[in-house]
Parts: sequence; structure tokens; C-alpha cells
Amino acid sequence: MPKVSSTKNSSDVLSIFLAKISAQQLHSRLRQVAQSRNTRGTDVDALLTALDRLGISVAPSRAAAKDNTFLHCVRCHKGYLERENGVESCKVEHNWDEGMRWGNGCRYQCESCGEYIEEISPGYGFDNETMCFTGTHTTDVDDVDFEEISADTCEENGCKPGNEGALT
Ligand SMILES: [Zn+2]
Ligand SMILES: [Zn+2]
Ligand SMILES: [Zn+2]
Repeated sequence: MPKVSSTKNSSDVLSIFLAKISAQQLHSRLRQVAQSRNTRGTDVDALLTALDRLGISVAPSRAAAKDNTFLHCVRCHKGYLERENGVESCKVEHNWDEGMRWGNGCRYQCESCGEYIEEISPGYGFDNETMCFTGTHTTDVDDVDFEEISADTCEENGCKPGNEGALT
């Protein structure tokens, strides 16, 4: 038997822990903890403080929790609060061109991103309901690639300054 030695190093334990849990599992466990009534606030505070000290900043989330400013997304033109903004908050639909015949059905291409959607056969609908863009809302036009996705500018969309749009 080869001789092996165990480790008492905390960082090793963290590495082993991470190797045994998928990103999705970890995310969903933490989400459960965040939503559970049995979670003690002091435990969560300790976790947040530790993350901050380890360089995984929760400062923007702390700031967002207190911020009651209504913002306007310059990509999807919805109103939002920063604390409700997440990686799937902002969605822009494709801009399908005129349908082309494709086998028995029809095929459309997004004029902006170039993605295709195909109808298997007439009347069966489409099996690829993706979005042209999914991400976080933004107030910065430099974050929006108007060439690559089918987003309108605020001007094209008729947004008025000071009008945050419908809250969703
Ligand atoms: Zn598209
Ligand atoms: Zn948006
Ligand atoms: Zn707008």
C-alpha cells in the first residue's frame, strides 16, 4: 500500500468541498438557505463577511439592498430596482425576418443575431424559443450591443426622460 498523508489545511477542505458539489447545486443550496425562515441572520452575516474578506465582494449587493432608486434599462426599456436586477432579468426577443420555406415548415432568421428558428412541420410551432439577449438590466448604453441584438435605443423606443417604464 502506498503511504498517504491526510491534510488539516482548511483550503484543502474547501477544494475537496468544491470538487464534490456542482456550481448549480451550491447555488441552489445557498438560495434555499437565503429563503428559509430557519436560517439565522448571524450565520448569514458571518458568511457575507467571510466572502468580503476573501475578496468575493458582496458590497454591491449590500448597496442594492438599501437603494430605492427606480432605474430605466436602456436595453429592454423596463423600470427596475437594482436589488431586483439579476442575470436573467433583462430579456430581449429576437427580431424574426420574413419566414422562408424550410422542408415542410417554415424557417425564420433573427435580423440582429442571426439565429434561426425552424418549424418542424406546418402548425407544429417552433422548438427553439431562445431570447436574443438574456442578462442583467443596465442604465449604461455602452453595455448594450445594438448591432448584435435586436434592442432598440430609448429614442427608437420612445422612452421619455424621467419615465422609468412599467415595473415588472
Ligand atoms: Zn436575435
Ligand atoms: Zn433590461
Ligand atoms: Zn428606454
